[in-house]
Amino acid sequence: LKSKLRHAERNNELRVYYQPQVRADSEDIVGMEALVRWEHPELGTISPAFFIPLAEASGLIVSIGAWVLRTACIHAKAWQEAHGFNLRLGVNLSAVQLMQPNLVDTVADILSETGFDPQHLELEVTESISVKTVPNLVESLDALHALGCRIAIDDFGTGAASLDYLRRLPADRIKIDQSFVRNIGVDPDDEAIVRATIDMAHRLKRGVVAEGVEIEQHLDFLRANGCDELQGYLFCRPLPHLAFDKLLNERARILAGGLAPVDHA
Ligand code: C2E
Ligand code: MG
Ligand code: MG
Repeated sequence: LKSKLRHAERNNELRVYYQPQVRADSEDIVGMEALVRWEHPELGTISPAFFIPLAEASGLIVSIGAWVLRTACIHAKAWQEAHGFNLRLGVNLSAVQLMQPNLVDTVADILSETGFDPQHLELEVTESISVKTVPNLVESLDALHALGCRIAIDDFGTGAASLDYLRRLPADRIKIDQSFVRNIGVDPDDEAIVRATIDMAHRLKRGVVAEGVEIEQHLDFLRANGCDELQGYLFCRPLPHLAFDKLLNERARILAGGLAPVDHA
């Protein structure tokens, strides 16, 4: 599989899917997360949870990650131009990418190549990445910040990061891991963790997004506790480029309908 993965990018087998992020109050789309898929001609669609670790072990994640970032910036820029609204684009960064001394140059090159405004790019770094595995983590994130990008801490609550570490990381947002969200209405301890995370994020002047929002009960709880944004199957699954494009067209049509008569021609 590793050797097949080596050819995936060149053979045009990789796809970027997009999952909307919505405001907790209005449920309007304010951003999307880019999620890679591998469409193997014989094996079918392979989940990133399975092939990203392979890509990391072989170092292929460096070129795959750059490809995902470039592709997503091209798509997001086209959506911006087509609809005029500035959705935030979230892209995952692997620890292996963060260890590359030229990561910041790569990101800067992709931004200038695609013309995508760094202000609307949010790089997601999973909480389990520690300063032990990536010694220059804080410096790299600072440099990405200096480019104008935003930083989000992904899968928050699952790693062993200390609160001091969180304070030192130049992160704009925290993404609460789905393992806690899933237990809303089931486990009062996890509910307490979700509440505490939202409160802590806000006190540290960070935004907070909940992942894995699947049912109304999750939505009600997160809304009642002041979570800013939500992402999950309740709103939408990750969609291929064309389907996400349709979703944005539909949104534009509804918004236009609210402001001016809809043109049925
Ligand atoms: P992640 O960054 O935490 O992404 C969220 C994952 O949760 C996605 O899985 C998404 O499809 C899934 N998800 C969203 N809403 C729900 C929900 O309501 N219920 C459930 N059960 N799941 C939900 P996906 O796309 O399979 O990606 C898995 C992980 O693979 C990602 O977790 C991320 O760590 C990694 N990944 C995906 N794309 C990339 C990439 O381009 N680069 C890197 N380095 N990692 C990536
Ligand atoms: Mg993510
Ligand atoms: Mg996550």
